Amino acid sequence: MVLNLIFLGPPGAGKGTVAQAVMDKYKLVQISTGDLLREEIASGSELGKKLAEVINAGQLVSDDLVSEMLSKDLAKKVSDPNFRGVIFDGFPRTQSQAPLLENILNEVNQKLNAVIYIESSKESVVKRLSSRWTCEKCKKVYNTVSFPPKKEGVCDDDGSKLIQREDDKPETIAKRYDTFIEKTSPLINYYKSKGILYKYDGNVPPLASIKAAEEIIEKIVKD
Ligand code: AMP
Repeated sequence: MVLNLIFLGPPGAGKGTVAQAVMDKYKLVQISTGDLLREEIASGSELGKKLAEVINAGQLVSDDLVSEMLSKDLAKKVSDPNFRGVIFDGFPRTQSQAPLLENILNEVNQKLNAVIYIESSKESVVKRLSSRWTCEKCKKVYNTVSFPPKKEGVCDDDGSKLIQREDDKPETIAKRYDTFIEKTSPLINYYKSKGILYKYDGNVPPLASIKAAEEIIEKIVKD
């Protein structure tokens, strides 16, 4: 069975961590629009410079741009003979992006199976994100409170420097949370009305969050 999923939740709800675990378990691939955008920024292109300005201000990138990047990446992944499904991380992020995703999936003969909403309070995401550090080389993610590196500021795996994402600064985090409530949260009711919304309390440690997500997926796979 092919399993196409969306994880919804404010920045810092643990979407990335949970998606990684679910991906490994069910052999799915992940598409993170945030990662695709950061790759473009890292390339140093003119487009990347414009994207950095928008993202570092805690705002959303235009629908056209994000859906084009997503569509290209999805087509590549679906054409792999081992394709078992995809987890969308960070898309759709607005009501207007939901039909765009349906079209993008239709184009490659796929459909969405479930949307998993990770409920998280502003307090817990601000706490989590302001302690998130990433290896500048391998991109491994640490949390100085719940998952600190063995040596402060240094990646356990390759010894590279740990850096804080520009948009994980406290003032930008609060803005990103508000953007989620305003722009993304209407999607919760949208997918509920389609009968494919599942949710759980994400104000818990990472392992408990992964377990809750996996229980939901087991139910979906069985039905
Ligand atoms: P993320 O890594 O998902 O937190 O994304 C980082 C930033 O990339 C967001 O704060 C947005 O500025 C931008 N971004 C990611 N996904 C989208 C999307 N679907 N639509 C618009 N902007 C996006």
